[in-house]
Formats: sequence, structure tokens, C-alpha cells
Amino acid sequence: MDYRIVVDAGHGGDDPGAVSGGLREKDFTLEAANYMYNRFKELGVPVAITRDSDVTLSRQQRLNTMNNSFGTDPKVIILSNHINSGGGEGQSVTNKCITIKA
Ligand SMILES: [Zn+2]
Repeated sequence: MDYRIVVDAGHGGDDPGAVSGGLREKDFTLEAANYMYNRFKELGVPVAITRDSDVTLSRQQRLNTMNNSFGTDPKVIILSNHINSGGGEGQSVTNKCITIKA
């Protein structure tokens, strides 16, 4: 298995994502993404992360990390964490086995 993974922590910094009752989406996506990143590293899976702290990323910065960490090989999997407020339950993780272009 020669897959490589880019973990994305949705939102961050000036962009809190969904907010409700003092809870901010960006905090949960960061916690989930850091956990995933560290666990993949423990397992020896090549992995990168778009942000590992509460920083603002432009769309282009986020895409640059996704596209440049391991190149544009189709075996690069992007796991983008979001906890949406527009319906459904719990956390959503978007898996994209395609290269995202700005
Ligand atoms: Zn979101």
C-alpha cells in the first residue's frame, strides 16, 4: 500500500466555521485532524497536515499543502474534517482521491 494522506483541519484562525453555544467548529476539526495525523504517523503512513494550530489559512494556502505535500499522484488521499451545522449528525470527513486545483 503506497497511499499517502493529507489531513485537513477545516477552518481555523479568523474562520471559526459553525458556532453554537460557545463551541467552534475549528476547534473540533483541529483536534480530530491532529489525532488523525499523529495516529497515521504512528502507523508509518506518510502523512501531512494543513494546519496543526489555530491559524488562518487562505484557500490557496490550504490547496498548496494538499497539492504539494506528496505531489499530484492519484494515491494521495485528502481527509478534510468538518463538523457541519446544516443537517446530519456528528462529524463529517470528506475523502477525496483526486487532486484539487485552485
Ligand atoms: Zn466546516
